[in-house]
Amino acid sequence: MAQPGKLIPVPTPETAEFWRGCQAGELRIQRCDACGHHQFPPQGFCRHCSSGRLRWVAASGRGTVLSYTIVHWSPNPAYAAEAPYSLALIQLDEGPRMLSNIIGCPPGSIKIGMAVRVEFEQCSPEIRLPKFTAL
Ligand code: ZN
Repeated sequence: MAQPGKLIPVPTPETAEFWRGCQAGELRIQRCDACGHHQFPPQGFCRHCSSGRLRWVAASGRGTVLSYTIVHWSPNPAYAAEAPYSLALIQLDEGPRMLSNIIGCPPGSIKIGMAVRVEFEQCSPEIRLPKFTAL
């Protein structure tokens, strides 16, 4: 569980299905039935073809590290204790990009292009955060 002071996401009508998926252990993203484009973050229309024919699908949970930084200091004491930690831009195999943490490996061993898969970390009774670990 999260320490007090950590930021807990608040689902909105647009993101609720994403968070329900995380609770169920699925990384859910939107797929356009008109053109096949996958997108994240969720939106009411396809960013590729503007169609409104979107549905939620479970992504593979696999991706690669597109970029990352190592956080050595945080102004928020709830995160400072975990430094150094990573903040990474993950390119999902389906295409969308997601900002998250790489967990389970020393920050110094993270490489651009590294294959990763999602894991979910319970941070409140209602919210599990998607994080990524080396394959
Ligand atoms: Zn589309």
